Amino acid sequence: MPKLGWFSTEWSERSAINDAHETLEYMAEADMGIAEQIGKLFELDRKQGQQIAELKAMLLAVSGLLVETGVVAEEKLVEKITSTLDELKPKPEKKGEPKPVRMTRCASCGKDVPANSTNYTETGEVCDACFSGY
Ligand SMILES: [Zn+2]
Repeated sequence: MPKLGWFSTEWSERSAINDAHETLEYMAEADMGIAEQIGKLFELDRKQGQQIAELKAMLLAVSGLLVETGVVAEEKLVEKITSTLDELKPKPEKKGEPKPVRMTRCASCGKDVPANSTNYTETGEVCDACFSGY
């Protein structure tokens, strides 16, 4: 299917990387005002909106073709798309279960302590007990 070549992952990734690189280059220009930078961000946002609209149109076309040609039943397709979209949604936190706490080694005493009870110092992450001695 040579006509679908432009839709390959490589193409879309390259395009996205080029766009991002261009945007960063624009941002790096010292003489560019904040209003102009915001303008560039809106421009990028519009481009991405256009790309999303194109993807939706392509998905609709492909889905329609699959159903019309009897490759797949519409209900099955809707079911599959819905479940795939559901998997993308962020999972709600379960109540009652404590969040897993990242452990880290204190740079001073060497004990493994929860990362949320450490302090960043010039010697590294140190535990609250050691930090109070600073
Ligand atoms: Zn310590």
